[in-house]
Amino acid sequence: MSQALKRADMAKRGARSASSKLPAITQPARESSAAPNPQSAIPGVSEATLRKLAKLGIASPFDLVLHLPLRYEDETRLLPIHAVPHGQTVLVEGEIVHSEITYRPRRTLVCQVRDSVDSEAGKPGNRSLLHIRFLNFYGSQARVLAKGVRVRLFGEIRDGYFGPEMVHPKYRVVREGEPLSAALTPVYPTTAGLNQAQLRKSIDQALATCDLSDTLAFASEPGCAVLQKLLLPEFAASARVLHHPPPDADANAFAQRSHPAWRRIKFDELLAQQLSMRLNHERRRELRAAPLASCKRLVPALLAALPFILTPAQKKSLAEISADLRRPHPMQRLLQGDVGSGKTIVAALGALQAIESGYQVAVMAPTEILAEQHYRKFLSWLAPLGIKVAWLAGNLKKKERQAALAEIAEGVAPIAVGTHALFQEHVAFARLGLAIIDEQHRFGVHQRLALGAAANGGKLKREPHRLMMSATPIPRTLAMTYMADLDVSLIDKLPPGRQAIVTKLVSDARRIEVIARVHEACRAGRQVYWVCPLIEESEKLQLQTALDTHRALSQALPDIRVGLVHGRLASDQKTAAMDAFSRNEIQLLVATTVIEVGVDVPNASLMVIEHAERMGLSQLHQLRGRVGRASGPVAQSLCILLFQKPLGELARERLKIIFENTDGFEIARHDLRLRGPGEFLGARQSGVPLLRFADIESDLDLLDAARAAAAQILEHEPAIAERHLARWLGDKQNYLRV
Ligand code: ADP
Ligand code: MG
Repeated sequence: MSQALKRADMAKRGARSASSKLPAITQPARESSAAPNPQSAIPGVSEATLRKLAKLGIASPFDLVLHLPLRYEDETRLLPIHAVPHGQTVLVEGEIVHSEITYRPRRTLVCQVRDSVDSEAGKPGNRSLLHIRFLNFYGSQARVLAKGVRVRLFGEIRDGYFGPEMVHPKYRVVREGEPLSAALTPVYPTTAGLNQAQLRKSIDQALATCDLSDTLAFASEPGCAVLQKLLLPEFAASARVLHHPPPDADANAFAQRSHPAWRRIKFDELLAQQLSMRLNHERRRELRAAPLASCKRLVPALLAALPFILTPAQKKSLAEISADLRRPHPMQRLLQGDVGSGKTIVAALGALQAIESGYQVAVMAPTEILAEQHYRKFLSWLAPLGIKVAWLAGNLKKKERQAALAEIAEGVAPIAVGTHALFQEHVAFARLGLAIIDEQHRFGVHQRLALGAAANGGKLKREPHRLMMSATPIPRTLAMTYMADLDVSLIDKLPPGRQAIVTKLVSDARRIEVIARVHEACRAGRQVYWVCPLIEESEKLQLQTALDTHRALSQALPDIRVGLVHGRLASDQKTAAMDAFSRNEIQLLVATTVIEVGVDVPNASLMVIEHAERMGLSQLHQLRGRVGRASGPVAQSLCILLFQKPLGELARERLKIIFENTDGFEIARHDLRLRGPGEFLGARQSGVPLLRFADIESDLDLLDAARAAAAQILEHEPAIAERHLARWLGDKQNYLRV
């Protein structure tokens, strides 16, 4: 099949599945049959160019319209060389007064250009002399750039050894008084072998042929009103202006993307996202799930057995989950709460409702240590109630594994706890009613898909309810965008009696003092974690560091029982080490970051984190949450962040934030700012399409408006929603969330 045919076929399939999954939304009705289909291939370009365009995510003419400039170059003004602040990218003009090819240290074309703007003002001198250098050049270029030639140069002026210099500027030989370009020059994101001129040509063609009619401005009252309120121009005009800024354009507004044309495009993008999230949310109400309503026996029994009572925030979350489970539609709820807020017990109580209603529960965690911790907690809570808890992880022996699989398939085990091994194809639940997924953002989209398959592969042709848990607090802006299709329960207060954790930043040079502090704590009957860093380049290196640290600390503290746990240990060894630590047989536990999530030893009140400068904010916060878990009169908890100098700027900022903040939300907000939503969400693997133009922090007003407009449009003008989504997402709609 040819590329074009394949694409057309894919587009068709996309359209079909979109309409089958979104019953309220049919394919966009086109006003005239001559209007080009935004999904169709791009006419008039070669196969090779099509492939390059595909690399840029461009598959249709409309994608070209939305291939907006990365930045703009201002070649509308000539600046005098001496007046340009170094580091600024500008256009200058002058006469070449010297030109030569030098060979040391490498072949270089060096020219000196005398600034004509400046010399006309009668201020000649060194400061108006610009050095330009080309490290890669053709002989023909050297001949063109000869003494006496007048050139216009565009590039960044830097502070060179001989004064101001430009390296590899864009240049053009000009006659005196030649007119400047009238408008800003757009610069597009591109890929090897595709130059700006080619892109520009294709984009212009697309601008001329595509249907750019507004999806909002005319027919839709709610859409129209919001555009007027925000003073946003029409779509077509906006797209044209961004590709061809007018001569009088405010260069700054274009560069900062605050120009109304930019804002209109961002608004449209945000609106498309809000519409699709809302539709997703609604679509779930059309799916069937088993209503799980019984909570008279098991839930009260566990509540009565607990040594504590639920906090109001836990009660409220449980009530929300319980109400969702009763409905005949799949729950999709995120249970959010800072580390140590007590999510697990809430999840367990939800699980009991499902079990009492005659269904199975799957509990998944992203790492084995965490899964095992859950397993043991669930076991201790549920076994006394006569409930069999199955365990399934990657490294089970074949026999154990088969036994677990059989228990799950036959329904003997009402609940199974494990890692992503639970997702795998051959795991068939007899009656899966509820899936609980801890730290859900760490699972990839494929695994989430597989879970659906596992449930449907069983005898039950219904969706399971889903409860996700996350200790990564989601900033409001993210919750409003990428997570807008989830219902959220929030545990916003820690259980009572927790002490605040004091954080100290200590240079690695003072390691000996830190070891003395650890010694003191252990002798006072408290327990200590010593965390070795994640070394991304090498798991082996990380292991080595942990082993070395363990040896060094054992030697330095002969009267203290020092243990070691790391990712490479067999799982029974890990369990043994963690158990010994929980029973206080180990006083000082050296650990790699495997303990990052979920580990719960209340007597541990001191944590030392090595190479804290290498760790991410949320990781540090999660680690720190392992101490300070005791309720009652335990001494103050302390977290010592050891860092090694010199500190990079980002590391310094991270350490400052973690030092100054204990509130997970505040830390998450900084984290989002430092890393951006993609990294923050782990969206690379989760498959959520990221916003290309809008910035959820700085475009908050647009986001608020888009959110309100989406609700209105879906209610009053579904045809407009449909058209808008077709334009912005095309066949990508189904990828949004599984
Ligand atoms: P996380 O939200 O980080 O998963 P956990 O569920 O592990 O937190 O709970 C942390 C600790 O707090 C556990 O030891 C748990 O038993 C305890 N806990 C949970 N709820 C309460 C409560 N209401 N009162 C006192 N302790 C609680
Ligand atoms: Mg937890």
